[in-house]
Amino acid sequence: MSETYGIPRPSLRRLPIYYRHLIEMAERQVPYVSSKDLGQNAGVPASQVRKDLSYLHEYGRPGVGYDTKALAGYLEEFLGLANDKEAILVGVGNLGRALTLYPGFAQYGLQIIALFDIDPAKIGQTVGDREVLPMFKLVDLARRLKVQMGIITVPPHAAQEVASAMVSGGIKVIWNFAPCKLTVPAEVLVKSEDLAAELAALSHHIMRRSQVLAPATE
Ligand code: NAD
Repeated sequence: MSETYGIPRPSLRRLPIYYRHLIEMAERQVPYVSSKDLGQNAGVPASQVRKDLSYLHEYGRPGVGYDTKALAGYLEEFLGLANDKEAILVGVGNLGRALTLYPGFAQYGLQIIALFDIDPAKIGQTVGDREVLPMFKLVDLARRLKVQMGIITVPPHAAQEVASAMVSGGIKVIWNFAPCKLTVPAEVLVKSEDLAAELAALSHHIMRRSQVLAPATE
């Protein structure tokens, strides 16, 4: 199984889900959270939660559970959520606007500091408190501000050109929402979200379920 920093990738992907639940519990002043509770929230058995957290040497107390605030703090540190990450976003359309205005990213230390678009009608407009800038300013701004992350919300045909501009600007992490494959240098990490592919998987699941539940015909 592929691993990142000594943790299997599926386990690593569950850590932010545990973190989100722990934050909710901490806000409700719940002092301890059980592996069963964390597992129910993440859709995995309690034994999987214990295994996931054991990679971080977090074991909890038998019969009591995990200290909510302590584990949230540890996960925050481990996942680097407390570190501010500055990002630029390219493509201020439906999705780009929604991501820009989403307040929840701040909890993960993500700040979208500049927006770019190619459409002259959008350049100069503001979204939230950020002005939409023309594309020719991207490389210089990203280099000057040492921007770590780029978010791509342009149509698929434009995504590679945008990714290349981000790479020229020194960006090392790209979060790509356009349903296409990007070619970037090996040191650049690309995380692609293909919502349509996820929907296709759900659609397949719905079809399979309806086949199983359909009364037998004869
Ligand atoms: P949109 O058409 O509303 O917005 C795209 C924006 O990108 C526009 O403002 C356009 O001017 C800009 N753009 C186009 N070419 C550009 C370029 N070369 N450089 C800079 N900016 C450029 O589209 P959308 O619905 O926001 O979708 C954006 C991307 O996200 C698409 O790839 C789409 O497939 C994907 N996506 C969107 C959704 C959604 O819910 N809207 C869901 C899943 C995936």
